[in-house]
Amino acid sequence: MHKETRSTCPYCGVGCGVIIESRREQIIGVRGDPDHPANFGRLCSKGSTLHLTATPEVIAQTRLLQPMQRLRRGEAPQPLGWDAALDLAATRFADTIRAHGPDAVGFYVSGQLLTEDYYVFNKLAKGLIGTNNIDTNSRLCMSSAVAGYKQTLGADAPPACYEDVDHADCLFIAGSNAAWAHPILFRRIEEARKKRPGLKIVVVDPRRTDTAGTADLFVQIQPGTDVALFNGMLHLMLWEGWADANFIATRTRGFDELKATVRDYTPDMVAQTCGIAKDTLYEAARLFATSQATLSLYCQGLNQSSSGTAKNAALINLHLATGQIGKPGAGPFSLTGQPNAMGGREVGGLANLLSAHRDLANPQHRAEVAALWGVPSVPEKPGRTAVEMFQAAADGEIKALWIACTNPAQSMPDLNTVRRALERAEFVVVQEAFATPTTCDYADLLLPASTWGEKDGTVTNSERRISRVRPAVPAPGEARHDWQIAVDFARRLEKLLPVRPEPVEGPAGLRQTQPERNLFPYETPESVWNEHRESTRGRDLDITGITYTQLDEQPAQWPCPSDPAQGQSVDGNATALPASGPIVGKKRLYEDGIFPTEDGRARFANTLYKPVAEPRESRFPFALTTGRLRDQWHGMSRTGTLGRLFGHVAEPCVQMSPGDMTRRGFTEGELVHVTSKRGSILVPLQASEELASGQAFMAMHWGAEYLSGMSSSGQPLAGVNALTTSAFCPSSKQPELKHAAVKILKAELPWTLLAMAWLPPENALTTREALRRLMVRFPFASCVPFGHERQGVLFRAAAHEAVPDELLIEIEQLLGLDAAGTLRYADRKRGQRRAALLQRAGEQTTLQAVLLAGDTRAEAWIRSLLQQELPAQSYGRLLLLPGAAAPAALPARSRQVCTCFNVSENAIETTLAQCGGSESERLGALQQSLKCGTNCGSCVPELQRMVRRVVPLKQAA
Ligand code: SF4
Repeated sequence: MHKETRSTCPYCGVGCGVIIESRREQIIGVRGDPDHPANFGRLCSKGSTLHLTATPEVIAQTRLLQPMQRLRRGEAPQPLGWDAALDLAATRFADTIRAHGPDAVGFYVSGQLLTEDYYVFNKLAKGLIGTNNIDTNSRLCMSSAVAGYKQTLGADAPPACYEDVDHADCLFIAGSNAAWAHPILFRRIEEARKKRPGLKIVVVDPRRTDTAGTADLFVQIQPGTDVALFNGMLHLMLWEGWADANFIATRTRGFDELKATVRDYTPDMVAQTCGIAKDTLYEAARLFATSQATLSLYCQGLNQSSSGTAKNAALINLHLATGQIGKPGAGPFSLTGQPNAMGGREVGGLANLLSAHRDLANPQHRAEVAALWGVPSVPEKPGRTAVEMFQAAADGEIKALWIACTNPAQSMPDLNTVRRALERAEFVVVQEAFATPTTCDYADLLLPASTWGEKDGTVTNSERRISRVRPAVPAPGEARHDWQIAVDFARRLEKLLPVRPEPVEGPAGLRQTQPERNLFPYETPESVWNEHRESTRGRDLDITGITYTQLDEQPAQWPCPSDPAQGQSVDGNATALPASGPIVGKKRLYEDGIFPTEDGRARFANTLYKPVAEPRESRFPFALTTGRLRDQWHGMSRTGTLGRLFGHVAEPCVQMSPGDMTRRGFTEGELVHVTSKRGSILVPLQASEELASGQAFMAMHWGAEYLSGMSSSGQPLAGVNALTTSAFCPSSKQPELKHAAVKILKAELPWTLLAMAWLPPENALTTREALRRLMVRFPFASCVPFGHERQGVLFRAAAHEAVPDELLIEIEQLLGLDAAGTLRYADRKRGQRRAALLQRAGEQTTLQAVLLAGDTRAEAWIRSLLQQELPAQSYGRLLLLPGAAAPAALPARSRQVCTCFNVSENAIETTLAQCGGSESERLGALQQSLKCGTNCGSCVPELQRMVRRVVPLKQAA
């Protein structure tokens, strides 16, 4: 039977509503939910392909389907039953706690968990075990935004909402490539601009991204200089009389100190520090301050920094100084990267936070939470944050680690330390939906978890909107929900741990000690959520006015207290709630000018500019920054299963400016060593006009699953985060993933290999996984999928000299190049080997698989032949000829721009060359002709750029 289930996209913090179509317990389709206020039916390239990542073939090849125990490190894990697995986990954790104390264990969880999962894990660590060693990958994503809001506005609450985009007169986008990272919000920006052409967009970024390409004013600053820019803007605002003196006087404190500080941020000083023109600085300040309503949108460019909190606070200072807050179209609006980073913050699922935006450092808050949970106390000592936790494990201080729904061996900075931590920890549990993340290789115990399409609970998006996540199908195999796993483990552990003294009396109104100890009585996600809801009573995020049933009907924004008239007061008595009906949430905060501080006034932060932790120097002359790709998500456990999502960016690369490449004698595609003080990787080089001189860029997604190799000292090299630094912001403890000083040098690896094949869907992903295991046997290797309708794999490698034939034979076998009829050529003396398999289907013969070893100069045309499935019967001999020139008749392959309709850059350029008229007319003609950009819209910013770049033939003539 065909079924439709309303749920939420599991990728970014926009939090789009989806409708999942399923039949006979299989997900068969997905579309945007037209009634969801985050997206009104739209989905980006990632969201609209979700169903393709949940096919039976993908599940069978990528999912962890039963608990597994690894008896010895380095060996394959063996299956075991759930009871045995959870008993083992509880015993090992209890033994560690008894022997070394509660701080000898740590939990590293994820912004992709649901709020209910997060709540249980937080209570398990802080309430049951008595350690604050629980942190999350959200630490890498938004902890600076949390600290910035708290320091200035008094609470971790983004005050604006998506609707404010429709009311803003100036959008100030800083450190955010929203066009790629928050695409559906960006569609809203495009629409707002169409409706109101007067809307000004200012983009601040070291890179000229697709987002920057749409700006009226692009402020291309030097990496890490945001605080200098914002202070310099404030300096000008004061000089020009653009500040709102009344707002400053009546709604804020601390301005005089900041005013004295920004006196030094003269236009000359700021222009020089940021590497921008003084006119640009002036225009940025003018647009921000004098527009009727200015909304700032910001993300990792501000957060992932050793000055992350100061960057956030300096930007919020501008809103406070100009009164651009608490009114339609205005306010500082941090965009969350992950789907439920906000939910994690709400339940206090970080090492320094407690439930419902309470602070661990506040004794009253600790007592309130202890009373709510029915435990004697919540420990006072701050827990280890992400970087500190892995450092402690590497130093032998944390001995048992529980990792849920995240892949630190790919995503953490300074991966060498992380790898040491995972190796040294005595017991590592990995609770995961997928079997493919690198972190699984380090697990002593693997616990299979449910994932999107199967999970049940809630998430909160960037605009404080809580949405339901609903199961369309049951979890496969023996996979269980994350919250259930945590509860089952906690119940076991509760029996093994020594009983802590009886709880003290809690503050009036909060739940008191249960007569019988049962800290985890939950049977449903709703029962977990109800306890979380109670914890928010009287807090800034009060959600006591919402029920699960109401959330089933419509998503809701917090705060939404049960008695809106009572607002923020602490009231211990639960109010009888209507089971259903419309929810009155708050879309915009601080409209009354009252902030959640002791005196109701916001605080200016006295922000000082500090350079990046690791400035460029002569030995490491490039500033490496990392960021997202348009069609990929994080470590690519899910998006990486689809070849079509590799059409836009097909393979790992490091980018630098064309000028720097020329000056250093580099050529496009050549292999380079990228080296920081922490590690070195080999990766192909690509020119990018987006980068200024002295900068380099690499996508954050490329981990050991896709890019690997072996250093000369025999250490495995592990993707981009082998290079990044774990230096972090002293307030937020968020690491500086956006900047590392590196050197880039030519790699001398003359022997090269390219192997490609189309694969049957039932083993395409397992074949790729088998190839991935071979990557470490080459100094450089990468392995990626390709293909829109079909599944293909591309394996690339390089070495100092020819590798042994046995290794090549292994690759050939995996790609089906051991089949009868395979064409072959080998010249052992010259390290050359070639194999090609042609396949006849109907009238046509195409290239099915190919391996070029020792000489890959013919890659371009052979790759075209295979990937475009062109007639190949006449190319047999040519395929085996080293360095054979491209046959003239072959159309060149080019990058895919539109994922939905598989439209290539070449096709777009050819069409645009024929289209005249205005920019919007040419875009319209292009879309009508090729359909590109007419579905999810993710490629529209790039199409607009191409419209500007490609001159019509008539005009050119
Ligand atoms: Fe998902 Fe794309 Fe929406 Fe983000 S913008 S929630 S990735 S559909």
